[in-house]
Amino acid sequence: MAAAAGSLSGPRLRLSSRLALVTGGGSGIGRAVCRRFAEEGSAVVVVDVDESSAEETLRSLPHGDQRHSVFVTDVSCPQSVHSLVSAVQKQFSRPPCVAVNCAGITMDGLLLKMEAEAFERVLKVNLMGTFLVIQAVARALIASGAKRGSIVNLGSIVGKVGNLGQTNYTASKAGVVALTKSSAKELARFGIRCNAIVPGFIDTRMAAKVPPKVLEKVLQLVPMGRLGDASGGLFM
Ligand code: NAD
Repeated sequence: MAAAAGSLSGPRLRLSSRLALVTGGGSGIGRAVCRRFAEEGSAVVVVDVDESSAEETLRSLPHGDQRHSVFVTDVSCPQSVHSLVSAVQKQFSRPPCVAVNCAGITMDGLLLKMEAEAFERVLKVNLMGTFLVIQAVARALIASGAKRGSIVNLGSIVGKVGNLGQTNYTASKAGVVALTKSSAKELARFGIRCNAIVPGFIDTRMAAKVPPKVLEKVLQLVPMGRLGDASGGLFM
């Protein structure tokens, strides 16, 4: 029997027919996103370059082994992303109707000292990786005749305001926002929505790499005086 509207079980299963692909699903925000989708009834494809982290996420999901799957992929590699989407389609007999691009890295250093490789690598993972996933998922959705889809990309507040030691990262995240806006304009006619989220500092492995001195300055700007909680403290 269907759950009555407004009952406890009703709203939590509102994504039961969905397949969501989450990159960077092995840690931090990506892991929290995987959990939230799974709790809402969606099947989840956990994508990460780090297999053991991705497997750990999978094990933490409701009905982990049965409904969901891990795919080890480097999002900065075009061939790998192409193979990922084909393999997902093969396993689930449909493309993901939701893609959340959480895969990201930092390679911090002051502008005057930064190696070109550190700039290029961060742009490749954060910006090109996001582009490749959007493109592969959108192509698959359109080819399958699906009339809707949703793509969510992770920008960052520092992409708007800048940050010491993060010329590469901030450029990549500002790029993600621009990429999202242009993708949204191109893909709207196929029923595919593209949105970006620009979080402040969230308590994850990535934030743990920020030097304490910098973090202290950042926290002075946060009214709550603390890092955000990826697991959704907002909803409690
Ligand atoms: P995290 O380091 O905890 O998780 C990032 C995940 O991405 C890791 O599991 C890592 O293995 C994976 N990854 C890295 N390179 C990859 C690649 N080439 N291919 C596939 N997976 C790869 O970081 P997080 O804090 O959860 O960040 C998630 C996203 O949110 C990132 O895009 C980050 O830039 C963004 N963000 C984070 C914060 C923050 O304060 N933590 C703030 C704003 C935005």
